[in-house]
Amino acid sequence: MKHVQALKSTSIAGRAPKVRLGPAGLHLFDRASGINILVDEVSIPPEMWAIGPRNVSIALTNTCDLDCPYCYAPKQPASLQRDRLLQWLTDLDANGTLGVGFGGGEPTQYPQFSDLCRRVSSCTSLAVTFTTHGHRIDDALADKLRGHVHFIRLSMDGVGRTYETLRRRSFKAFLNSIRRVRGISPFGINYVVNSMTLNDLDRAAALAADAGAAEFLLLPEQPARGRPGIDHSTHDLLSEWVISYQGCVPLRVSEAGAFGLRFCDPMPSESGLRAYAHIDAFGVLRNSSFDAGGIHIGCGRVLDAINALDSMNRSVR
Ligand code: SF4
Repeated sequence: MKHVQALKSTSIAGRAPKVRLGPAGLHLFDRASGINILVDEVSIPPEMWAIGPRNVSIALTNTCDLDCPYCYAPKQPASLQRDRLLQWLTDLDANGTLGVGFGGGEPTQYPQFSDLCRRVSSCTSLAVTFTTHGHRIDDALADKLRGHVHFIRLSMDGVGRTYETLRRRSFKAFLNSIRRVRGISPFGINYVVNSMTLNDLDRAAALAADAGAAEFLLLPEQPARGRPGIDHSTHDLLSEWVISYQGCVPLRVSEAGAFGLRFCDPMPSESGLRAYAHIDAFGVLRNSSFDAGGIHIGCGRVLDAINALDSMNRSVR
């Protein structure tokens, strides 16, 4: 394992990257630049693999001041207890997790949200990201978040009138949110794809490029709140759009909606809970935010919940 020790002392842009060992090899990650380097020539014995999922998403609260028709966030009031959350994140950080993505609901409605980001970025080596509709980010909040957040995902489902019909907020105000967000950290655009938003994809991707977005994340609509999710013909048209896409902003797709689309997974050997886990606002650890089952973490350790969910997953396979 001498070569592993040598690789661990590699620097990226003059900084020591976080090192994660797993079935895919040795993974170096620099949260400040977002650079990932996978050394897959080295074979890591299973006993050295990281226990923490590569990335964790956490719904801080179910509260949101918007009411998007396709929203899958539970509507029962719930919010995570801050000290417990910080303990989970400290444990995950120490066990190889690379990043946390805060969501909800609307994470900026979580009490002292900017202070939480500051604490996590200064007390752990996790990359701090969050997903937001953007309308609550004013100049004061932007100032508090700057330097404590590594990436922001802005939800923009449709352009102009489509956006305003679905989100019931001014698109002009959303464009102002983009301006503020890009002054905080690198950002990406999240885009729910359904029969209403499909035709705006070209304009949305062009807008993302003009605004300087680092990525454009496609979220084929999932079944929720009595809606069936993206229909087959819209999914087929989305697939054609992806194949013909020539824009400069890299495309990503949510795992839940990736079926049938041409995307590559850089680490197919690191899947399931090794790659990703979700914690909802009730403190339940799930395989994804769309998954019905899960393990309530309660006052226990998050790593114990991960092991318990892993055993549960194996038993149903
Ligand atoms: S902004 Fe997000 S959390 Fe809020 S209602 Fe819309 S989809 Fe749900």
